[in-house]
Amino acid sequence: MFDNLSLKLDRAFKTLKGTGKITEINVATTVKEIRRALIDADVNYKVAKEVTDTIKDEALGRDVLIAVSPGQLLVKITQEELTKLMGGSKVDVNIKGDPAVILISGLQGSGKTTFTGKFANLLKKQGRQVLLVACDIYRPAAIDQLKVLGEQIGVEVYAEPENKNAIEIANHALDYAKKNGKKIVIVDTAGRLAVDEQMMQEIEALKKALNPSETLFVVDSMTGQDAVNTAKTFDERLNFDGVVLTKLDGDTRGGAAISIRHVVNKPIKFISTGEKMENIDVFHPDRMAQRILG
Ligand code: GDP
Repeated sequence: MFDNLSLKLDRAFKTLKGTGKITEINVATTVKEIRRALIDADVNYKVAKEVTDTIKDEALGRDVLIAVSPGQLLVKITQEELTKLMGGSKVDVNIKGDPAVILISGLQGSGKTTFTGKFANLLKKQGRQVLLVACDIYRPAAIDQLKVLGEQIGVEVYAEPENKNAIEIANHALDYAKKNGKKIVIVDTAGRLAVDEQMMQEIEALKKALNPSETLFVVDSMTGQDAVNTAKTFDERLNFDGVVLTKLDGDTRGGAAISIRHVVNKPIKFISTGEKMENIDVFHPDRMAQRILG
């Protein structure tokens, strides 16, 4: 994860660390290299510019030129600014209501269903009574996929394969949850390969009908800038509460992780790093920044 970015940042700092007397020009050069590394990692240009301008101002404001180890101070400042950029501190999922409803949105293939299983697994391990709901009314395979995951983690899945009305299915699932002591209902929804008006209208209607305490948007981090644009579109329509970044184990350049929070102004809440049920982490901006800086 972020190997290339980490390597380039490391190189930028090494040059500075190897310089005898540091001048403002040395700092400016290093900051420019940081910016280039971020842009190469697919970070939105404006975001990369803003954060590196701040790093430079901070560095000069904190007297990096006369610091005992200017290189280290610049690494520290970069880490602080990347942490801020990614949201500062972790934000929890809102679980409220009886039952609490959590709506999962995103494009097809983003990793929605896999995440739904992982999240249910996490909650189950905390001793919560969870019900999964298959609301992808277009792909019977998606219902089966959720059922298989449910069996694997020992969480019940509610589905009505013949019903083509997602709101009806979800409402029936809520009744079922109430009757059967399920406290958290996670609703997996239909996605398309690209943003599409019908999908948006459907998920908007589902959100309105279910009034979830948390709506999560799942996005494939490998899609780089597209991930940020898709997030923007979904947020405009859904006003979601948090982002789940998937496939961070792959050959991702990491840009989405760094710019999504800043562009959409919604917190990243989880990252997914593999296909297995345990490949899920709560997102901590500071830990991520630390990881990026190696
Ligand atoms: P959905 O269409 O959004 O429900 O997406 P799926 O959950 O079916 O995931 C699409 C594909 O991506 C599947 O083959 C998953 O196994 C895979 N996948 C999901 N999350 C991850 C992840 O974090 N890392 C990797 N490498 N693969 C993932």
